[in-house]
Amino acid sequence: MQRDTLVVPGKFLHLQCLCIGAFNPDYDYLSLVSFLDACPSLETFILSVDADRVRQESVLAESSHDLRQMPGHVHRNIKDVFIIGFCSAKSMVELTCHMLENAKSLEYLTLNTSSNPEISCSDSENGRCLPMSKHMRKEARKALLAVERYILGKVPCSVELEVVKPCSRCNTLEI
Ligand SMILES: [Zn+2]
Repeated sequence: MQRDTLVVPGKFLHLQCLCIGAFNPDYDYLSLVSFLDACPSLETFILSVDADRVRQESVLAESSHDLRQMPGHVHRNIKDVFIIGFCSAKSMVELTCHMLENAKSLEYLTLNTSSNPEISCSDSENGRCLPMSKHMRKEARKALLAVERYILGKVPCSVELEVVKPCSRCNTLEI
């Protein structure tokens, strides 16, 4: 099955900050590597995903095979990577591993597993974070497990990893 991929119309030689979002539920996130290749000056890459809408194989699924790699792509200037809506989707974990292994200048990697990082209980009007659906909380738990199994061991000492979890007061991740 051919999955949607981003068609790169040319090179974006001077682009330094890229925030990209709104994907089909089965979007292959690893394919973004080709897009990043077309942005040689890129320093900040923000991927914003609605984890509630992602419908694809989890890296934790038993049917999940070895992680794919995209050799030959080196990203020389990327320092900051933020993934908002990080989930356990295999292609997203593959993209994250790719960045850790091939973005040699990477300094900060932030993986946010909460639904809406902008609205938290400390600054919302009703004193509560935006509620997460049961599906979202389950997915957040799987995302944290995927970080433990696949990401932590790949983080070089030059990279600071921040994993943002859902607020434990408002959105508990039940077992
Ligand atoms: Zn909260």
